[in-house]
Amino acid sequence: MLDNEATSVQEEFFNSHIEKCMVCFAHYNVEKQIRQLLKTKMNKKSVPSALANEIRGKIVK
Ligand SMILES: [Zn+2]
Repeated sequence: MLDNEATSVQEEFFNSHIEKCMVCFAHYNVEKQIRQLLKTKMNKKSVPSALANEIRGKIVK
């Protein structure tokens, strides 16, 4: 029960924080997009960090 509460509080804090913090919001979306992209484009468990950085560089401007 306590674990669930802590998780939802953390989630709430995180969600309200990224609404106000563009830095975290951008980072959160970039990571999400990269993971999504790599999941769909390649069926690999480990992704070369160079490739991840390349994609990150294209998304973040
Ligand atoms: Zn932040």
